[in-house]
Amino acid sequence: MKGNSKNNLVLPIAASFASKAVQEKLDKLGIINEFDLVLHLPLRYEDETHLCPISNVLEGKTVQVEGVIIHSEVMYRPRRQLVCQVEDGSGILFIRFLNFYSSLIKTYSVGARVRLLGEARLGFFGTEMVHPKCHIVREGMPLPDALTPVYPTTAGLSQAVIRKLVRRALIGDNRVSNLSETLPNKTLKRYRLNSFKDSVMFLHQPPSNASAHLLQERTHPAWCRIKFDELLAQQLSMRLHYQQRRSHSAPALPGRNELTKALLESLSFSLTSAQRKTFSEISRNLSEAHPMQRLLQGDVGSGKTVVAALAALQAIENGYQVAIMAPTEILAEQHYQKFSHWFAPLFDSLGITIAWLSGSQKRKHRQTALSDIAEGNAMLTIGTHALFQEHVEFNKLGLAIIDEQHRFGVHQRLALSMKSTKAGMVPHQLMMSATPIPRTLSMSYYADLDVSVIDKLPPGRTQVVTKLFADTRRDEVIVRIREACCVGKQVYWVCPLIEESEVLQLKTALETYETLSLTFSDFKVGLLHGRLSSQEKLSVMELFKQGDIQLLVATTVVEVGMDVPNASLMVIEHAERMGLSQLHQLRGRIGRGIEASVCILLYQRPLSEIACKRLQIIFEHTDGFEIARQDLRLRGPGEFFGVRQSGIPMLRFADPERDETLLNDARCVAEEVLRDYPELAQRHLQRWLGEKRKYLRA
Ligand code: ADP
Ligand code: MG
Repeated sequence: MKGNSKNNLVLPIAASFASKAVQEKLDKLGIINEFDLVLHLPLRYEDETHLCPISNVLEGKTVQVEGVIIHSEVMYRPRRQLVCQVEDGSGILFIRFLNFYSSLIKTYSVGARVRLLGEARLGFFGTEMVHPKCHIVREGMPLPDALTPVYPTTAGLSQAVIRKLVRRALIGDNRVSNLSETLPNKTLKRYRLNSFKDSVMFLHQPPSNASAHLLQERTHPAWCRIKFDELLAQQLSMRLHYQQRRSHSAPALPGRNELTKALLESLSFSLTSAQRKTFSEISRNLSEAHPMQRLLQGDVGSGKTVVAALAALQAIENGYQVAIMAPTEILAEQHYQKFSHWFAPLFDSLGITIAWLSGSQKRKHRQTALSDIAEGNAMLTIGTHALFQEHVEFNKLGLAIIDEQHRFGVHQRLALSMKSTKAGMVPHQLMMSATPIPRTLSMSYYADLDVSVIDKLPPGRTQVVTKLFADTRRDEVIVRIREACCVGKQVYWVCPLIEESEVLQLKTALETYETLSLTFSDFKVGLLHGRLSSQEKLSVMELFKQGDIQLLVATTVVEVGMDVPNASLMVIEHAERMGLSQLHQLRGRIGRGIEASVCILLYQRPLSEIACKRLQIIFEHTDGFEIARQDLRLRGPGEFFGVRQSGIPMLRFADPERDETLLNDARCVAEEVLRDYPELAQRHLQRWLGEKRKYLRA
């Protein structure tokens, strides 16, 4: 590969080629430089490479015909329109234009030879085309030998203009730099990739015999090369970013087997092998003098919390503080309770405290917490978003643990990790995901993180049996609840999600609570929703935990963290409104004890197609990773992650799930190229991400 310096440039589109008005439209399409034009690939193609005799034109087929106008007239019934008859020796075709400038009447007057591309149908006058693509030709004018690309565009920017600009990028003065190769030859060979230049030339101007199917499905080798390049750019950028973060210093926090050992001894269970494996991965990272960036994944109930607790203790036994951040107050509170329960016996003798920070807490309490954190009395701080507020100063923060990391924006995550320890050191970071992320997605979008997966549930879990009930069978559900409560089991009743209105949701929860309290007047019914004060929430949860409440009516706040093993029946109302991961999380609240557990999904007809699919998936599957994969298939990565929140840049061409092989290859090539050809890596990134690069800083 020759290092031509001119090749390093991504060239702006010259003002002489695109007027200011055109450039503004291009901006809308994300086209800023010439290379963006090279990557502005067609949506589809039109076949203008041959002509179809009019007598062979079939209804519903898009074809090109050529003929001479033998009649042309403006008609006024049923509305104003220009109607022409075109004859080609084999037959006659009618063409109609409904909206037209008067100049068209003259252009399409009798005797004019026209080439038409359009879909034929049987109309009022006979075989006709309405608004075909139409232009005047000379007799014998040659046909194009490539398919005609149709590009994505925006209002006011015609295909003709885009085509001209793209053509210029492909064959104009800058073609060498625009089309230069960014992969070493041996990589192309090893991974059987076409050259970049051949691939884009092919996609912009496929020969007439190109397989329409492979082009449409984007499985043609030319498409594979483009998708590979896109995935490679993503991997390069993530790996570079990873390396950059690794280059910072962090306090080395080696395992000392003091507090961690004490916790393990105090637990009523022993770790599963999956938990041991993931903790040893984390432990090793913590002992290094570079910031850890690790994502801990596992299905609902797989026991991530205790692994996080061990990580926290390893930091604390080295004299460093730990912060645990959760996305909701209720989840943060659960953690606070659990960690207090586990850690208090270990901390009390050492005079260490745990601090609590949340947006809703009283000023006075907050002040105390803040000074405990700043002075280093509080070795562990648990809280919500309040944790990354600027006035939270840690004495010696060594580890930040972020639960349900995908609910936080990238910037919030950064803010916490940048609360640097003394002497310019960066704390270690452990992220946890409650929603299992399919492997392909985490390989692609989380390539800047190390990933640990707890792939087995703790022993003794009972399978939850899921039942689908139409809302009309409510009475049967009531009977089941009564039976369960009578034998000492506990029940969740989850109220419907009402996305449009939180007020309405609350109202529904209150009404449900009242109705069920009357129905079950002989049992104790509790109510839990997001608007209760923290104190109220805590006390309801405590009563439920202790078995003083038999039936807990709750909004989806129980989705996260609730851990009451004796609860073995759950009813979810209007299950058809909920997303798959939400249903899976909710259902994960039961099946935690020894009792056989049942989850009843109440749904109301009519069911949309997607709701029907979701219910079927949740009915058929219990494995969170499998559910996540199906969810991804239903919704695509953007929706799966909730792009806007997460700030994750999406892929335009490649689909990590469908293009898994390319993704695997891109991952390997990224490592090689970064190591052996750093300049090519830079050029590849510059091309693909250019201005967009900054958004990848996560
Ligand atoms: P999640 O991964 O969903 O956060 P949790 O950490 O809340 O799961 O764990 C779910 C439940 O399993 C808790 O009650 C926890 O105490 C229990 N648990 C965790 N690890 C084990 C284990 N190795 N053996 C038995 N129970 C365990
Ligand atoms: Mg959890």
